[in-house]
Amino acid sequence: MATSLNPYVLSAPNSKIRTVFNKVDGKEGLVKFVLGEPNFDTAPNIIAAAEKALEAGHTHYVANAGIFELRKAISDKMQRDNHIYYDPQTEIMVANGGTEAIWLSMQAIIEPGDEVLVPGPYWSPYPSLVKLLHAVPVVVPMLEEDGFMYNIENLRKAVTPRTKLLILNTPCNPTGGMADLQLLKEIAALAKERDFYVMSDEVYEKLVYDGNEHVSLASLPGMKERTITVNSFSKSYAMTGWRVGYVMSDAKIIKYCNKLHELEASCTNVPAQWGAVEALTGDQAVVDFMLGEYTRRRRMIVDGLNAIKGISCVAPKGTFYAFANMKGANMCSDEFCNRLIDEAGLVVIPGDAFGEYGEGYVRMSFAVSDETIIEGLNRLDMFMSKLS
Ligand code: PLP
Repeated sequence: MATSLNPYVLSAPNSKIRTVFNKVDGKEGLVKFVLGEPNFDTAPNIIAAAEKALEAGHTHYVANAGIFELRKAISDKMQRDNHIYYDPQTEIMVANGGTEAIWLSMQAIIEPGDEVLVPGPYWSPYPSLVKLLHAVPVVVPMLEEDGFMYNIENLRKAVTPRTKLLILNTPCNPTGGMADLQLLKEIAALAKERDFYVMSDEVYEKLVYDGNEHVSLASLPGMKERTITVNSFSKSYAMTGWRVGYVMSDAKIIKYCNKLHELEASCTNVPAQWGAVEALTGDQAVVDFMLGEYTRRRRMIVDGLNAIKGISCVAPKGTFYAFANMKGANMCSDEFCNRLIDEAGLVVIPGDAFGEYGEGYVRMSFAVSDETIIEGLNRLDMFMSKLS
């Protein structure tokens, strides 16, 4: 019938994180570990650069791909930090956050009926976006015993002739797992052998601990042309509300992304792009400062969780999330989280918000204050001791 709506929109479920967020919104006295958002404000030099851009009249449409100054700054950063050369003219596009960069690159690559390998547990938009494109998400487990990262044998088993794209998220939300060089080499070999693309979501690349090293898959020989690298200013520079991210790949793929970006948004907010130029070219002390804070809080929350009877937590290699095993509570993660809200005034994200492989876990963001961590751990400890 002419008045029906697109059923694929409903096939893409809403984020359960938002459901939790809405459930507790406006309630008093809760201790919250909910959103994946730095609790720092954007650095003053970045804000000043955006203000200056507004005053200088940078208030008009710009190229779909973004201002050249930002693409050049991204190209320099990628050469310096990630050892990959992306041509600022043809191989980089600035998007409205990592979220739009991911959506556009999926649209550029995925055809109806394609299979897309998705990490499990996953950042919840991945499978939803795949379904919106009439394609099939194939969730590949990344279990605790595998360090919460892909095991190459599981990946190998999941590949079929219809596999078009593999999503790699390292460091990974929600688990904090990271791909090491050996795994990246194995993924590269598999992608070449079975001829599929890889989307490498690297938005947490700057939040890495204990001497772990983030390596970009596209820096491996022969991988630049079959990898779409996505990054963002949100997490590294505490710029979540600015909505600036970027996608980099072969010129052929970026041409498609630009076309889609023109149709969807025309270009990314221009003063925000000037702020992003300053983020990359200005003083990086703020990045080091935030990493130092997260490093300290990570130790505090992981040690605290491991001291609670019935809870255990592997220290995340990267990100600002602790993914705690709560199987000792003998209930599903959804019930656990609802009871924590009602009986302890504590809000964490149930692992099933990240798909079936997240069951038995809860995610706690440690991009929160020390006081929140201390009080949250106390409440969790009290709740668990009442259970036993
Ligand atoms: N990728 C992952 C794994 C994320 O966790 C997020 C945000 O939480 C994003 C991408 C998108 O971030 P943004 O759109 O703010 O750049």
